Amino acid sequence: MQTFSKSFTQQEPIPDSAIEAAVAVMRSGRLHRYNLAEGERGETALLEQEFADSLGAAYCLACASGGYAMQIALRAAGLQSGDKVLCNAFTLSPVPGSIHGVGGVPVLVDIKDDTTVDIDDLRLAAKESGARFFLLSHMRGHIGDMEAIVEICNDLGIILIEDCAHTMGASWKGRPSGTFGKVGCFSTQTYKHLNSGEGGLLTTDDPEIMRRAVILSGSYMLFDRHLAAPAADSFGDVRLQTPNCSGRMDNLRAAVLRPQLAELAERRERWNRLYRVLEEGFGQAESIVLIPRPPEEDFVGSSIQFRLPDLPRDRIEAFISGCERRNIPLKWYGRYEPEDYTSRYDSWRYLGNTRRVPNTEKVLASLCDLRIPLTFNESDCAEIVQLVSESLKESDKSDMANKER
Ligand SMILES: *Cc1c(COP(=O)(O)O)cnc(C)c1O
Repeated sequence: MQTFSKSFTQQEPIPDSAIEAAVAVMRSGRLHRYNLAEGERGETALLEQEFADSLGAAYCLACASGGYAMQIALRAAGLQSGDKVLCNAFTLSPVPGSIHGVGGVPVLVDIKDDTTVDIDDLRLAAKESGARFFLLSHMRGHIGDMEAIVEICNDLGIILIEDCAHTMGASWKGRPSGTFGKVGCFSTQTYKHLNSGEGGLLTTDDPEIMRRAVILSGSYMLFDRHLAAPAADSFGDVRLQTPNCSGRMDNLRAAVLRPQLAELAERRERWNRLYRVLEEGFGQAESIVLIPRPPEEDFVGSSIQFRLPDLPRDRIEAFISGCERRNIPLKWYGRYEPEDYTSRYDSWRYLGNTRRVPNTEKVLASLCDLRIPLTFNESDCAEIVQLVSESLKESDKSDMANKER
């Protein structure tokens, strides 16, 4: 049997310019972001400035991880212990984890067949729960109808926070993802669009939220060393009223990220070329239903999803194991036991009783997912299409054999 030879978890090397910048930081010994020589601005502050500029946001804070960015976004936006926070039920485990970590109570919102948030259920869940916050994940890079979402949030007095872990570099009707809500949260963990191992970025136009976020992230009284934050003399009482919950980024990671940020648009083009090969190929296969990509959405195709809505469970199981035998680790959100990154809302037992989300249940039951690392080329993607299609056909035969038995 033909098997795929490359690894779906192998990212590109860090660019040479980033390695050199990182080595320079190490030679200086000044890894802590506030440890600056006379007149030096520091890699972390420069990264914040460049990232804010790339989005057209007023402020940016670099921090320890994407999950941490969401935690301080919620706190800086005024979350108190016990407050309810809406979140789409199809998301990654750090989202409910972040809400839980700052004392919030996640309220699940159902999704549509295209995996984006169900606007009607959002309105319903908001009214039922009285939640004042909505932490919206643009899960796997699919952006919902942002105008409608923003309108509901404005109508009901809900503070929107965007989780842009999969939409860094993406936009909706030309406006960058992360600039629709009060706060945008991004991750620079290895499998996202920029790679510093771990890391997070928070953006906002709101000076009060930014002041609180800076102090929360552990700035001590050194907030005058930021280049993308409100003026130091505006920190007044905030600096005394806000706890220090240490979670800074360091100059080493920032040095690794800055040259990558400069490449983001070019990476997006490369990702989307690979995505289109997979999309077109899977589109030909019987039983596969792709997630539509609306023209308003300028996405970054760093992963691809599809559904198999008409296939019975045992056929999907046979298909997935056929892919695995071909060395294609297709992730399936319908698995009862969570595996790798595919844990789902019903694996987060610490949430206790949650709202029913029947369409999420239906969609996830057949939803498949593949990462697209940039170490692949277009012919790798064509080979993946061929192997996946083969496995799909083969699973049909095994299904028939089962029935005959
Ligand atoms: C990766 C991810 C996060 C969290 O990012 P970390 O930097 O790993 O904490 C949040 N949301 C989604 C959807 C993610 O994929």
